[in-house]
Amino acid sequence: FTTNYSTFTHTLTDDPSSDKDRVRVIIRVRPMNNKEYASDKQPQKVLHCVNENSIVFDGGQHSRRFAFDSVFDEASTQEEVFHYSGVKRLVDMAIDGYIATCFAYGQTGSGKTHTMIGAEGASIFRMDKNYRARNLGVVPRSIDYLFQRLRDKTMETSSPYYIRVSYCEIYNEQIRDLIRPGNPDSLQVRGSVEEGFYVENLYHTYIETIDELLTILEEGELNRAMASHKLNETSSRSHAMLSIQIEQDLPEYNDENEQMTRQGKLVFVDLAGSEKVKQSHSKGKQLVETNNINKSLLTLGTCISALSDPSKRAGHIPYRESKLTRLLADSLGGHGIALMIACISPSRICENESLNTLRYANRAKNIENVPIVKTDSKQNVINRLKLEVRKLKDENYQL
Ligand code: ADP
Ligand code: MG
Repeated sequence: FTTNYSTFTHTLTDDPSSDKDRVRVIIRVRPMNNKEYASDKQPQKVLHCVNENSIVFDGGQHSRRFAFDSVFDEASTQEEVFHYSGVKRLVDMAIDGYIATCFAYGQTGSGKTHTMIGAEGASIFRMDKNYRARNLGVVPRSIDYLFQRLRDKTMETSSPYYIRVSYCEIYNEQIRDLIRPGNPDSLQVRGSVEEGFYVENLYHTYIETIDELLTILEEGELNRAMASHKLNETSSRSHAMLSIQIEQDLPEYNDENEQMTRQGKLVFVDLAGSEKVKQSHSKGKQLVETNNINKSLLTLGTCISALSDPSKRAGHIPYRESKLTRLLADSLGGHGIALMIACISPSRICENESLNTLRYANRAKNIENVPIVKTDSKQNVINRLKLEVRKLKDENYQL
């Protein structure tokens, strides 16, 4: 139903039903940019997509073939990536009550934001509809698909769904609210591996249309840029996390006293650039920054390594050592499901970082989750919401 533009035809295959679910990993190679074309090193390209599942890294002395769930070459479109990356499965499972996470990994400039949000970042919001539709990334396409599915489902079950969105970034091991930047800095992560982790006091807002989401993305991006400008930081060092909570009262428990609510969650993470920060530029405040950035990304790497190694998998996984890994705990070796989109440039200029990304992605595909639907009694959900409303009111009184 979609035209294929990339060199290879993609199809979707599903694993036979099992209680385990492997983390899916796809690669997206972006086209070379002018600077890379202008580079006089020959040959310029070190990556070659062999077919829709494999890619060869050829760095001269060192050549290696990697296999992934999908490989999208330079010619692939936003539409193809959305349809054949498996992200629709994440949306479907989030509707069914699972925690589903999609995260973009790769060095700065490799195409993470392009793939997740779209060609012009969130400013696509102001573009005309056709142009916008062509360039929208995985996140707005997923929301559009989510609303479509919910419309169909609501007709079947007559039990309404509610969508609550929150948006935050982790920079320097501090969490900042991107919807309500006035929220106290350094929000805390609460919870446990068993119960699930969450950001305490993070602002949530209900949405009903894709345009409302695009506004949140656009404002979030502005808030992100403003905060990093003020503090002399760069947003490529922060992790942006968009959470979309999907709530539905379960019709099969229609007893007043025991109403159950199902809460699925769809999470999109645009990770900080994976490149190594040059130590020579790291002085004073900057040094702290690199250490902490390394802490979140390093801990993510450590967790992925441990989880992908069958001999270490059952042992201690250091989720607690960074905010990022605590928030991703359910999707990596937990009760959620996950998709990793690894972005790379084919250019020789980027060969070391690209090889690192391929190795990293190659480990991630060995991680297994055991997905479980989480339900809660309606009374618990109401109590939590009441508490939240009271907190928000208190905040307003103080203004
Ligand atoms: P990152 O978020 O990883 O730092 P970006 O998504 O901002 O990288 O991409 C860097 C530049 O490359 C942007 O100008 C973007 O528009 C362009 N780009 C990235 N991926 C693609 C692609 N698949 N096709 C065309 N241009 C791309
Ligand atoms: Mg980016």
